[in-house]
Amino acid sequence: MTPIPFDNSYARLPERFYAARAPTPVAAPRLIRLNRALAENLGLDPDWLAGPEGVAALAGNQVPEGATPLAAAYAGHQFGQFVPQLGDGRAILLGEVVDRSGQRRDIQLKGSGPTPFSRRGDGRAALGPVLREYLVSEAMAALGIPTTRALAAVATGEPVIRETLLPGAVLTRVAASHIRVGTFQFFAVRGDVEGLRALADHVLARHYPEAAGAEKPYRALLEGIVARQAALVARWLLVGFVHGVMNTDNMSVAGETIDYGPCAFLDAYDPRTVFSSIDQHGRYAYGEQPRIALWNLTRLAETLLPLLAADETEAVAEAEAALAGYAPRFEAAYHAGLNAKLGLTDLRDGDPALAGDLLKRMAENQADFTRTFRALCAAAANPEADSAVRDLFVDPTAYDAWAQTWRQRLAQEARDPAATEAAMRRANPAFIPRNHRVEAMIAAAVDHNDFGPFEELLAVLSRPYDDQPAMAHYAEAPEGGGVGYRTFC
Ligand code: AMP
Ligand code: MG
Ligand code: MG
Repeated sequence: MTPIPFDNSYARLPERFYAARAPTPVAAPRLIRLNRALAENLGLDPDWLAGPEGVAALAGNQVPEGATPLAAAYAGHQFGQFVPQLGDGRAILLGEVVDRSGQRRDIQLKGSGPTPFSRRGDGRAALGPVLREYLVSEAMAALGIPTTRALAAVATGEPVIRETLLPGAVLTRVAASHIRVGTFQFFAVRGDVEGLRALADHVLARHYPEAAGAEKPYRALLEGIVARQAALVARWLLVGFVHGVMNTDNMSVAGETIDYGPCAFLDAYDPRTVFSSIDQHGRYAYGEQPRIALWNLTRLAETLLPLLAADETEAVAEAEAALAGYAPRFEAAYHAGLNAKLGLTDLRDGDPALAGDLLKRMAENQADFTRTFRALCAAAANPEADSAVRDLFVDPTAYDAWAQTWRQRLAQEARDPAATEAAMRRANPAFIPRNHRVEAMIAAAVDHNDFGPFEELLAVLSRPYDDQPAMAHYAEAPEGGGVGYRTFC
């Protein structure tokens, strides 16, 4: 048996979909971390991956048997500006495996050297961003949010040139696929309808088999992508996640969170929050994400017009009908999620207003998003626990007034308070990747070659809904509420 049982479907698509390209070897590969549980889920032997041959494969020094390494072509809107050719500039798809649950998964090296799509980039990744992506993507998975995964991080033993010299690393990313809205745009802008159809058929078979059998498969495909994206963005908002760079090339058509460059989590709740240093106008602010996802989906719908109907007016009507499904799906997922966070089982008329009122008061009082909802869990069962919530508000009486209405609503629930509290603890994580903790973890690794904080933080974030009393410091908000925190990519 070959160590990685590749079954590569993307490489069988027409040649213009990608550039065949092997990774560029690195000087001194050293395994930083292997995700053994994920390896097993993929049907791979973790001991082989952690051994010399496996590490050589994960570093890009040895192309494993059965791999068909390639850099995928795509286009994309970056901050609203269309770029007709982007593509994998520093990532190489080794191939696909079918995991233990029968799902096809991409295995991709990120930071593995230049490709024909690198433009002026070096094709490499610095250690800090690799550790950030590893940690945050695994934290998202543990939170139950669809996401690409991290299989391994390998130090290259080579510096990368950024503002300063930084240690380099390669991340092995696993995804349902790496097909993006921008992949569709690549063919649409070239007027390549045959390429578009081949791509759509591939995505139908791979990600939306139920739509493949529909009367109008391409319309069903668009509806399916719209539905998954609406649900995904709702999940982001419910944990305070800010993606940071929702360009159309960073939106997966499989409905997974992808591209963890400048992402960060809210500390104090403020829907205008922007972390990314390059997002100067707040296009990708926390509260803008639902609107931007629809904007991106509209760009996707435009690419699909030639496939939807022969008559253009009819095609536009079909696209609009599919896009019209976005808002109700997002609203339903978001409000159901908020209700779960508040301990409410069925969604009643006044519930969105109740949740909205809490969020408004949180924003006015710089209340920490994650801590507030986690503290509400105990308060649902015991009003004496209110003090822990109200202390998070600049003006604690802002909470008291809201809590009265909340308790009246909770009293209408059939569930007993202990069951409500337990359910709320599964909807409101105690632990998220706090920005100050992520930064400290990166600094320890980059400046002191100390991976202890990375390992510890990763372990804590693998059980985000469990109280971990010995690790309670990881649940704390930063001094000053994290105001002014910036991310770079
Ligand atoms: P991102 O902002 O991460 O979505 O990247 C946008 C585009 O820039 C993609 O085509 C990337 O492959 C490319 N890119 C980013 N960093 C590099 C790099 N260091 N070398 C080459 N290409 C890069
Ligand atoms: Mg090619
Ligand atoms: Mg990207």
